[in-house]
Amino acid sequence: MFFKMMPAAFFSLVFGFVLGSIPGLNENLHWNLWYIVPISGLLFGCAMGGLQFAYCFRVNQRITGGIIACLVIAVLLGYGAVDYGIYRSTTIILEGHEEIPDGEYKLSELITFWQYMKINLGGTTVKSSTGGTIEMGSIGATISYIADLIGAAAGGFCILLVCRDKYPFCEKCERYKRREKKYEVKLAFDEQKMDEIFERMNKLIAAGVYTDLTAYCRQLASDHNDRKGDIKINIDQRYCSSCLEGTILGIVHRKSGGKWQELKDLKFWFTSQPGEHVPLG
Ligand SMILES: [Zn+2]
Repeated sequence: MFFKMMPAAFFSLVFGFVLGSIPGLNENLHWNLWYIVPISGLLFGCAMGGLQFAYCFRVNQRITGGIIACLVIAVLLGYGAVDYGIYRSTTIILEGHEEIPDGEYKLSELITFWQYMKINLGGTTVKSSTGGTIEMGSIGATISYIADLIGAAAGGFCILLVCRDKYPFCEKCERYKRREKKYEVKLAFDEQKMDEIFERMNKLIAAGVYTDLTAYCRQLASDHNDRKGDIKINIDQRYCSSCLEGTILGIVHRKSGGKWQELKDLKFWFTSQPGEHVPLG
């Protein structure tokens, strides 16, 4: 299992190191919002989580708790590798030192990585809203760094969980189901109409006849395509190409104040018996 994890974990380390080694870019890598919201950490974690899922999807590896744990560790190490990259690639000009002759030195020739990290976390200045600078003590810098690490871990963790929810997996054949059809149902909010749709949908799910359900999804999509509608139902129809087990996943959104928000209570999911799926054309 761990071997299967290796590509993304290895990439996380290399990617972190390379990012830290790019001059100019590396100064902006620890980017926080209001000093505590770890934007760069989150982005790094999400990118690694996405990459890990893309790999698992390709090789039909189910996202297990073990894989999530390994990825979180790899992301944390990868985020640390960014600093190692900065440390290895930084050169400084030394003048007037008592014991060392003047000249240009690699940082790694002068201090160890741990000494560098200690200095790094020793103090930071941040710009205040009035344009001045505020000295942050070592505790502030350490908290900010820990926030970055938590952000990176949370980013990777959440992306894998979301993908595991979104991409049905056939346990029996150990493979991801491929998309067969995608429907978008759009209508203006109408309580009575909504009740009608979801009552029928729940009845069909309870009855458990896959083809009746797909027929209803098709009918809904052709009946309700109001582009300006503030209710959107995205239906994803997938099936296992080996045992023909089908899955229908429906996610409902409502627009409010210009933003689409998921109505989690209305989410629906149905998995057929193997062989029940009839491939279209
Ligand atoms: Zn299958």
